[in-house]
Amino acid sequence: MPTAHEFDSPMYHEAVGQFSEVAELMGLDENIADRLKVPQKSTVVAFPFRHDTYAEVETIFGYRVQHLTTMGPTKGGIRFAPDVDLGEVAALAMWMTWKCAIVGVPFGGAKGGVRVDPMALSRAELQRVTRRFTMEIINVIGPETDIPAPDLGTNEQVMAWLMDTYSQHVGHAVPAVVTGKPPALGGSVARREATGRGLMFLLPQAAAARDIKPEGVTTAIHGFGNVGRYAAVAGEQMGAKVVAVSDISGALYNPDGLNVDAAAKWVDEHRFLEGFPDADFIDGDKIFELPVDVLVPAAIQGVLTEDNADSVQAKIVIEGANNPTTLAADKKLRGREVFIVPDILANAGGVTVSYFEWVQDVQKYFWTENETVGRLREIMVRAFDDVHTIATSENVDMRTAALIKGIRRVADAKLVRGVFP
Ligand code: NAD
Repeated sequence: MPTAHEFDSPMYHEAVGQFSEVAELMGLDENIADRLKVPQKSTVVAFPFRHDTYAEVETIFGYRVQHLTTMGPTKGGIRFAPDVDLGEVAALAMWMTWKCAIVGVPFGGAKGGVRVDPMALSRAELQRVTRRFTMEIINVIGPETDIPAPDLGTNEQVMAWLMDTYSQHVGHAVPAVVTGKPPALGGSVARREATGRGLMFLLPQAAAARDIKPEGVTTAIHGFGNVGRYAAVAGEQMGAKVVAVSDISGALYNPDGLNVDAAAKWVDEHRFLEGFPDADFIDGDKIFELPVDVLVPAAIQGVLTEDNADSVQAKIVIEGANNPTTLAADKKLRGREVFIVPDILANAGGVTVSYFEWVQDVQKYFWTENETVGRLREIMVRAFDDVHTIATSENVDMRTAALIKGIRRVADAKLVRGVFP
């Protein structure tokens, strides 16, 4: 194994640990395994960010990591978070590679990050950070090379500024340089809802695998941002009973079922869930222990741990966030027969509709909502079925099966491309 201290971080060790276990199980060629443990290209930047007060110019770190350039352009979100580091971004880029391969979209994995707290920024500050970071990485992104998207702490508006900055630089509009942008700029209809909706398309499949009737399943969702909020909306539309949702301020709980639309409106007006009148307001971390059928961690990484895994009462965990379950928690939950739909499968709806958006931008021909959602459903359900078939035939859990599917596809591509020169 190559030494890669550059990426040292708990999340990178989780990603490599998961990969190594499965690579060994598959009998993967060691030369290919070593190559896939480290990202192909990593860009680290430090740049000045002027606060609104003018008095303070802060030096901020940013990262863009491209894990695999074998399959096509690289693809992955950009997160703005106060503690993001190179190792975290490298881990997320690796998971993007498997995710793209699992749903069969022609991209390798990438990820970006800016170490800043987006909650503490004004709109003008957010715009300045976005535009400057875009300039810093402008030579490594592009519609045929690497295509960013939103992630934790970034949104459609941030993607619009990124697209504008890139377009100003090259002298003409380039919508295909980024996905998850507003439809007015060439964004796809149904991209905003895609990750949350995509994961809820898997609820009936997961329920069937666990012999539970999907109608009326009680569901708790950790995180009420892009993923969590639209998972709650889609879950309700599909007949699940959403009893709890949370954000960084805490969690809402109503055992009789929440009014998700009302909670979403509340957040639009008040920014946080706190203060919403028609539910109990409980500590955010208590959401993991509620008596529910389905738990959807959809906020941040590392929330299901060795310490709280035994308190989880849900029979099904559908991972909306990336890496919400530590390796130790994963083993404990599986030991108790909790059915886990892993992140690299469950939240792949985002990159799937991002792929649709890129195709539409490149072709300059746009699809209807029905076409987009229908194709999303087809891809998600097929990916679940493929992974479930591997899980059954190889007698492994869903995470291992998903990794087998993703790694196999990538390894096949690497073998036929060969080594240059
Ligand atoms: P977001 O910024 O839109 O929302 C994040 C949510 O998590 C918010 O409700 C926020 O209040 C909450 N949160 C933030 N920090 C928290 C903390 N420390 N404790 C508890 N709650 C906290 O982000 P998002 O786009 O919804 O992404 C959420 C997760 O899903 C991330 O892991 C991301 O990588 C993953 N993901 C996102 C997409 C996408 O399309 N946006 C696709 C695939 C995976």
